[in-house]
Amino acid sequence: MLELAGVSHVYPNGTRALDNVTLSIPRGMFGLLGPNGAGKSTLMRTIAGLQAPTSGSIRFGDIDVLAEPDMLRRTLGYLPQDFGVYPRISAYRMLDHMAVLKGVGNAGERRELVEHLLNQTNLWAVRGKAIAGFSGGMRQRFGIAQALIGNPELIIVDEPTAGLDPEERNRFLNLLAGIGENVVVILSTHIVDDVADLCPRMAVLAAGRVQLEGSPRELIGSI
Ligand code: ADP
Ligand code: ADP
Repeated sequence: MLELAGVSHVYPNGTRALDNVTLSIPRGMFGLLGPNGAGKSTLMRTIAGLQAPTSGSIRFGDIDVLAEPDMLRRTLGYLPQDFGVYPRISAYRMLDHMAVLKGVGNAGERRELVEHLLNQTNLWAVRGKAIAGFSGGMRQRFGIAQALIGNPELIIVDEPTAGLDPEERNRFLNLLAGIGENVVVILSTHIVDDVADLCPRMAVLAAGRVQLEGSPRELIGSI
C-alpha cells in the first residue's frame, strides 16, 4: 500500500502543482487520470522520491519515502514520461548491463532474467537490435523491461500510451496488467480508456487536486 497524506507542491515560480493530495493506493493497477497540467508528472516524480514536496508525507509499506528515498529506489521501477536517450546498443546488451548495475548475481542468472524480460515484453525477436531504432511502442515495452529488472514492488509509469497506435497501446496496457496483483502499478494518463478496463482503482486529478477516487465503474459516468 502506498499512502500519500496532504502532499502539496509549489514550484519556485508560484505554480501550485499539487494541492493537498491524500490517496491510498493498493496493490494492483491504479489509474491516475487527469488532463495536461493536472500535476500528474509532478506527483509521479514526488512518489518516486525524485522531487521533495513542499509539504505532506508519503509512505510505501514500511518506507518513509521522503526520509528514505534510497530505500524506495531499491524497490521502485519508474518509467518517466520522456525517458532518456535511446542507446545504440542492443536491447539485450542494455538489459544485461542494467542487471549488472542492479547487482543481479552471476552471468547465468542474468541471462535467465534478461531472456525472461525480453519474452515478457514481447521483444525477444528484436533483442539484438539497437534501442535507438525502436518504435514508440517498442521503447515503452523496453522501458517496462528495464523497470522490472530489480523485481520492484512499486512501478510508476507516466503517460506511456501517448503517441502509441491502438494495437501498441493495447499490447502495452496488457503488459502492465500482467505484472501482477502483488505490485503497486501506477499508470498516469489523460486517456479515460486507458484506465477504464484494466485498473480496478483510479483517481482523477485536476488542478493539483484529487477530484474523485474509486473504481472506474463508479467514476467514469461522472467524468
Ligand atoms: P501533468 O503531468 O498532469 O501534465 P505537471 O505535473 O507536468 O502536470 O504540471 C502541473 C503544473 O505544474 C502545470 O501547471 C505545469 O505548468 C507546472 N509545472 C510543471 N513543472 C514545473 C516547473 N519545473 N516549474 C514550474 N511549473 C511547473
Ligand atoms: P556487442 O554489442 O558489443 O556486439 P553483444 O550485444 O553482441 O555485444 O553481446 C553481449 C552479450 O549479450 C553476449 O555475451 C551475448 O551472450 C549476449 N547477447 C547479445 N545479443 C544477444 C541475443 N540476441 N540473444 C542472446 N544473447 C545475446
